[in-house]
Amino acid sequence: MADYSRTIAFIKELYGNQDFTPLSVPQFLGNEKKYLEECIDTTFVSSVGKFVDRFEEEMARYTGAKKAVVCVSGTNALHMSLILSGVEREDEVLTQALTFIATCNALSYIGAHPVFVDVDKETMGLSPAAVKDWLAKNGEIREGQCYNKNTGRRVKACVPMHTFGHPVRIDELLAICEEYHIELVEDAAESIGSRYKGKHTGTFGKVGAISFNGNKTITTGGGGMMLFNDEALAAHAKHITTQAKIPHRWEFRHDEIGYNYRMPNINAALGCAQLENLDKYVASKRKVAAEYIEFFKHVDGVDFFVEPENAFSNYWLSAVVLADKKAQLDFLQQSNDNKVMTRPIWELMNRLPMFENCENDGLKNTIWFADRVVNIPSSVRPEDL
Ligand SMILES: *Cc1c(COP(=O)(O)O)cnc(C)c1O
Repeated sequence: MADYSRTIAFIKELYGNQDFTPLSVPQFLGNEKKYLEECIDTTFVSSVGKFVDRFEEEMARYTGAKKAVVCVSGTNALHMSLILSGVEREDEVLTQALTFIATCNALSYIGAHPVFVDVDKETMGLSPAAVKDWLAKNGEIREGQCYNKNTGRRVKACVPMHTFGHPVRIDELLAICEEYHIELVEDAAESIGSRYKGKHTGTFGKVGAISFNGNKTITTGGGGMMLFNDEALAAHAKHITTQAKIPHRWEFRHDEIGYNYRMPNINAALGCAQLENLDKYVASKRKVAAEYIEFFKHVDGVDFFVEPENAFSNYWLSAVVLADKKAQLDFLQQSNDNKVMTRPIWELMNRLPMFENCENDGLKNTIWFADRVVNIPSSVRPEDL
């Protein structure tokens, strides 16, 4: 059995030799308390208040999106994004098996079916070449829509995910989606602050979904956001996430099925304060990654996963690639036994009971990563700020 004690000692030291080194914890080092107090003092804690608008405006400015619309989780940001892209019951959606469950849950709420396509070795995210291959074999355009020749179902959307904050080759995916009349929805839940060729992730496709869950790079306690380049679509997003109520001083009239997915002001207040420190948090995570890169250069059998070409990654969760499944288990065991929190990459979606019968393309690289990847402590270090 390989001995990882030198690596474990290094990780502990990186985070100041605490009793327990967590995977990733939030930091509240700015105006969080001040803004929360303001919400409470003014009683605007819920569905009305200035922080919601401010958070949306500041996030649009930060990401370069035309509009940003908040909601209560990254999962429902994805759910809404797919509805707004026209995904309907019995449609197929091309996505990764190497992702967090939320990606697949969101499309399942609509009654759509995932088709799992392989990821790239360089990005750990959806492979443009694999998508192109799958479409060349199975796709067929009829009356301006793409259909799966074998199932007869419409292929309506493609959802790449920027794994651990590392941008996928999104421009190539966009070109393929355009060729096949497929909507591109980015699961940018993990990649706030990450850019591809200088452009913020989540702003390439029709909609991009971001998460502000407690374990993400910045948090609103719980929350999500959609990024748009199309103002009319953003306005519709606002409408359906707020019960589709027609604005009126006293009347309660609604013109379609809506959702109570509006982020409360108190969460948006937290978001505004967190956003003020986002660049510093990303810089700290990148500094941690740089130290890992240097260290792992001299460790046999452990490869640190580095940001792909043309990408600026937020390094949300640092990841190492072990030699094989056995090494992955040994590493997990030894690190967790020594109070350094590590965890394997998610169980693949096609191995879960809800999705085990879904179509996939063989998933060569996906399976390779599943057997080898482990996330290691990646928290922001206050001393870096
Ligand atoms: C965190 C995450 C989400 C959604 O997160 P919420 O917890 O619902 O905010 C979606 N997709 C991926 C890949 C994620 O990591």
